[in-house]
Amino acid sequence: MSDALPNAKVTSTDLIHHDYLPPAGFRAPMPGVFKASTVIFPNVAAMRARDWQHKTGYTYGLHGTPTTFMLEERISSLEGGLQCVLAPSGLAAIANVNLALLKTGDEVLIPDNAYGPNKALAQGELKNWGIGHQLYDALNPADLDAKIGPRTKLVWLEAPGSVTMEFPDLPALVGVCRQHGVTNALDNTWGAGLAFNAFALPGVEELRGSAGADISVQALTKYPSGGGDVLMGSVVTRDEALHLRIKLSHMRLGLGVGANDVEAVLRSLPSIALRYAAHDQAARALAHWLGGRPEVAQVLHPALPGSPGHAHWRATCGDGGQAAGLFSVVFDERYSAADVDRFCDQLRLFKLGYSWGGFMSLVVPYDIGTMRNASISAWPHRGVLVRFSIGLETVDDLQADLAQALAVLH
Ligand SMILES: *Cc1c(COP(=O)(O)O)cnc(C)c1O
Repeated sequence: MSDALPNAKVTSTDLIHHDYLPPAGFRAPMPGVFKASTVIFPNVAAMRARDWQHKTGYTYGLHGTPTTFMLEERISSLEGGLQCVLAPSGLAAIANVNLALLKTGDEVLIPDNAYGPNKALAQGELKNWGIGHQLYDALNPADLDAKIGPRTKLVWLEAPGSVTMEFPDLPALVGVCRQHGVTNALDNTWGAGLAFNAFALPGVEELRGSAGADISVQALTKYPSGGGDVLMGSVVTRDEALHLRIKLSHMRLGLGVGANDVEAVLRSLPSIALRYAAHDQAARALAHWLGGRPEVAQVLHPALPGSPGHAHWRATCGDGGQAAGLFSVVFDERYSAADVDRFCDQLRLFKLGYSWGGFMSLVVPYDIGTMRNASISAWPHRGVLVRFSIGLETVDDLQADLAQALAVLH
């Protein structure tokens, strides 16, 4: 510091220009958190030569810092992809793909059992901009085949369906898209890059770098974060041209993510495989137990025989394969919606809340009739559906909680 202190102007200047470089020779398990809107160039020539598209350097915070680059690389590796962009939420990642690949006059096809806000985006903004959409029955590849037309520029896939948990024949759906030369994007939040490889599906041949989906989207909000405290999404590809289209839209839409949130996901990623396996094991035990209860008409868990799409789950995830800690049950139709609400309110450890993939068990009752299009994929059940996200509590405690809450039905 200069002798001019306490001259406020000099102090501020000194504080601002107190040069900082990350220390060479310092190593630790966690990477540093580099936050930037501004990135400083060494000279005007470097500024003019900047290239934000190919990650050859740092140009502006929106285009990434060492921290965001690191998470992009790790999510790519996790999913078996080659390129990744991060978005401020899973839904923003879905929107990024739509806006990169669709324009006025085009059409997008979405499974009728897809994540609800994906359909809402199509029914709202996309429709307002003259982009059409159709819903298809994810369990019937022939329905997808029949609905793809000359205007179809994107097909969404999701495995399993949100809330109702039917596992589709992904290789067959990808095959239909390829036959028509239409790009597909998989919402891979449930699989998280662990239950199956979105880019290497059984029986699918390699085309433009992928033997599976063209694009894999995840809500990192779920298992990659695992904390119930971060919103983030990712878009992973294995085709440079496709990635650049998505990245261009990402830049023009300004879909940056905060480095502190990225740090939270980087901190959670090393335990994702262990957490996923633990959620899976606990969910299967509880789903199996609920399946034996007289109040429950049907358990919807893709890894349990008798659930819709179970054979497709086995074919895609393998014998002894993995599943997320997520399942739904349909209550016997003798219980009204009000009865099932009382069951949910009676739960003590299970909390009422949206999202999933965190350490705390969550529950949501759904009215599926209002979420599905009966003429596309009719919902065969009359009882009320409740979706469970199984956290990391002790299974016996969760089962005791379910048992005491079921007692209010008697
Ligand atoms: C939660 C979720 C999303 C959206 O993630 P957000 O980060 O909450 O926007 C997208 N797809 C699926 C299947 C999800 O479960």
